[in-house]
Amino acid sequence: MKKAVNLVLEDEEIIELIRILLDEVLPYLATLPGVIAYNPDACTLTFRRRPGFLTLYADKGLELLAALKNAINATWEQRHNLIAVTKARRAPRLLDVWSLLPRSNCKLCGEATCMAFAVGLLQQKRVLDDCLPLQTNSDFVDRRASLEVMLV
Ligand code: SF4
Repeated sequence: MKKAVNLVLEDEEIIELIRILLDEVLPYLATLPGVIAYNPDACTLTFRRRPGFLTLYADKGLELLAALKNAINATWEQRHNLIAVTKARRAPRLLDVWSLLPRSNCKLCGEATCMAFAVGLLQQKRVLDDCLPLQTNSDFVDRRASLEVMLV
């Protein structure tokens, strides 16, 4: 008969162990593309998880712990290929994205406005290549580079 595992998450030692693990591995987990916010001071990491998103804390139950263990192991194995994140990261905001677009509302992307295109970018329904002026106008090279970093 399979032996039951009695893991009591309220146990302070286990919580402390998870916290120490998170302290070490979170800067590397923060490099993953699905991460939408990372706060090293609060030691929290929010990432996309369909539907919606999920924020890692140390006390969300066994299911999360199992998922976290897998993510930690996979990330830790790959850490030499990653650059740890040491600064706070947050999801790009609509106005941040819109302000870097050409804002000419030329409609070449098929959207009525650049604002609508920015929404599409944040919802991952559109890609930067869909904005022709951003690709072809040399005045927008820096803006495009900023958007590429922002929308990773
Ligand atoms: S193609 Fe670019 S500049 Fe033109 S409306 Fe779309 S996002 Fe704006």
